[in-house]
Amino acid sequence: MKRRIQINIAGRVQGVGFRPTVYRHATAAGLAGFVTNTPAGVLVEAEGEDAALAAFSALLKAQPPVQARVETFAVSDVPLRGDTAFVIAPSQGSGDLLIGIPPDLAMCSDCARDIRDTANRRHGYAFTNCTCCGPRYTIVRALPYDRAQTSMAAFTLCPACQQEYTSPADRRFDAQPNACAACGPALRLLDKQNMPVPDVADPLAAAVDLLRQGRVLALKSLGGYHLCCDATDAAAIRRLRERKHRPTKPFAVMFPSLEQIRAHCEVSPEEEAALADPSAPIVILRRRADSALPAEISPDTHDLGAFLPYTPLHLLLLDRTGPLIMTSGNQSEEPLAVDESELTQLLGTFADFALVHNRPIVRRCDDSVLKLSGGRRILIRRARGFVPGAIPLPMRGPPVLALGGDLKNVFALTRQQQAILSPHIGNLAEFASYSFLKTAVADLARLLQIKPEIVAHDLHPDYASTQFAKEFPAHTHIAVQHHHAHIVAGMVEHNLRGPVLGIALDGMGYGTDGTLWGGEVLLADLCTFHRVAHFKAARLPGGDEATRHPVRTAWSQLVAEFGDEAEAVAAEFLPALTEIERGTLRTMIQQGVRSPWTTSAGRLFDAVAALLGFQGEVTFEGEAAIHLQMLAATAPLPPYPFELVRQRDPWVISFGPTLRAIVQDLRAGTPPAAIAGRFHRTVAAALVETCAALRMRYARHEVVLTGGVMQNDFLLDLLHTGLQARGFKVHSHALVPPNDGGIALGQAAVALAKFFT
Ligand SMILES: [Zn+2]
Ligand SMILES: [Zn+2]
Ligand SMILES: [Zn+2]
Repeated sequence: MKRRIQINIAGRVQGVGFRPTVYRHATAAGLAGFVTNTPAGVLVEAEGEDAALAAFSALLKAQPPVQARVETFAVSDVPLRGDTAFVIAPSQGSGDLLIGIPPDLAMCSDCARDIRDTANRRHGYAFTNCTCCGPRYTIVRALPYDRAQTSMAAFTLCPACQQEYTSPADRRFDAQPNACAACGPALRLLDKQNMPVPDVADPLAAAVDLLRQGRVLALKSLGGYHLCCDATDAAAIRRLRERKHRPTKPFAVMFPSLEQIRAHCEVSPEEEAALADPSAPIVILRRRADSALPAEISPDTHDLGAFLPYTPLHLLLLDRTGPLIMTSGNQSEEPLAVDESELTQLLGTFADFALVHNRPIVRRCDDSVLKLSGGRRILIRRARGFVPGAIPLPMRGPPVLALGGDLKNVFALTRQQQAILSPHIGNLAEFASYSFLKTAVADLARLLQIKPEIVAHDLHPDYASTQFAKEFPAHTHIAVQHHHAHIVAGMVEHNLRGPVLGIALDGMGYGTDGTLWGGEVLLADLCTFHRVAHFKAARLPGGDEATRHPVRTAWSQLVAEFGDEAEAVAAEFLPALTEIERGTLRTMIQQGVRSPWTTSAGRLFDAVAALLGFQGEVTFEGEAAIHLQMLAATAPLPPYPFELVRQRDPWVISFGPTLRAIVQDLRAGTPPAAIAGRFHRTVAAALVETCAALRMRYARHEVVLTGGVMQNDFLLDLLHTGLQARGFKVHSHALVPPNDGGIALGQAAVALAKFFT
């Protein structure tokens, strides 16, 4: 019997080749009807025989385009219309513009096959893509997402590409960046003076030779330049480290294949899925003990950041070179280089040669970084492959610009009930990052056609982002406390209205009392919060200097907790501090000179790391804390004592007894691994006890875990398990980073909540 059905499909279904796939399946089944994009997703109507319709919808369900992520697939019957052919109909309504611009998508397996196939006309072509894959966000100048509005506009399609572009049955139908060697972008090899290397017939082959010789290359990738070198060449890696002034911070490695990643790292099925996802992030994996890759890649950790080639250019290179170090082409903390003048700086300072092309990068976007632990995804950096994907907000309201924090800056724009987060901007203390923030805000607001009416910013009066917010013309400016923003970001992700118990373990954020908070338990809803408990405050002698030198923080803790005995302990366990330095610092601490109070969890981890041997200078954010996590034995040792002081509101969680026990253990010759493990368990136990006691008072049983310290998956797992065992419902981040890269989302939601009260 003949019928007509309607299928409404939602999820990541636009810009991924969905309509041509529907067209192919429908025409193969001999059905008539149409497929079209709507503001809600994809709409299909098909009519034909019962059996053909059933086969068609089963096939569509089973084999959607590889890059699609179908969230709903609703089939209903509609009256017959007597269509005679199947067509791709023009998109319905302008709808939500956002839907029209998906994130950049990693090369699909079909395109990978094309460029490796000697018989294919795209064999060896570095800019191959199709409707399922390729650049999007990084090439679009304006919406709607059409070729004329992308950086492909300058390339006129050749007849063969034009044919593909206009044929509904073709994999490249309506693929905006469609190109081939005859009509598309081309590669060039440049020398250190930014001049084309003469007599190079095949720039790719020449680049491969240079990499094999141990040279450092600047590579024009998707959202900016990478610096790359041979990941098996220790001398080349050392050279890159020296040039980047990056002594120990781990480098990421791009591997040619999943098999090669498996040869060097432990890979779980979840990690495998994350690596192969179209977002192609850097996934932090456990390095195998038998991996022969040089230790120089990640000297102080047993982790390795691995990812797969996500552009055809990467694949063509890696097929011939093997694993490559791929690191952002920039000065540390500065934005990724994308244009010619920035390339000149890379060539002068870091790279010997550059492999470039003539497809302009319209929008900067770093690689995303994540790790998986205990079945949870922890985003460390949310950028390529995720941006500009929208995150649903708990309420609809006027457009908000939320400026994030000064470290790991990410800003957010909202429209109606959605928040769009920017990619990673960087550390705003760097002038280049601050300028990037200014241009990126203007650019994203223009692209998404959002005119912010509310500006949300951090409470810190001296943050560059706060200054920028205050100068931004808008009706309303709303300051949001740093850790409240962290916690609300988590609430937004899990659709919680609160009040919840929010645990923010962080570096440092400005508190309502003017001190630097960072070990906080807040009873929070979307609009307000009450500080119910915090880590015991300690002096930070020299402020930022102490953040760079964990031994200073350790010394401050010893002075506070050990009294007269502090000198003897420091002489024994903080050899990096001389007696004279200790004297100066002690005076600063006791007189409160340039020694702000802080309850920071990050600094507490620093102090313990110093006592256990981390005596040097921190060369990247969180280095000492990472050192401590790497050291920690995961065996189930008992926690050390701690103290919960409940006389006053807020309660104080003191690790004084913990530090005394640690010093005792050190003196007894207990291995540092056991001490580090027990310290982690102590912090978790103290917070579990605190929450259990707070529940008696406030009757809240939902807990949100957030803050930069939650990147420590050992601690995060301990908190999840410990709190769950006590009957709490525990939430942590999966959509935004727990670090300051996630606070803009929380700021936006707080601003909307405050606006309506
Ligand atoms: Zn493709
Ligand atoms: Zn062509
Ligand atoms: Zn923070």
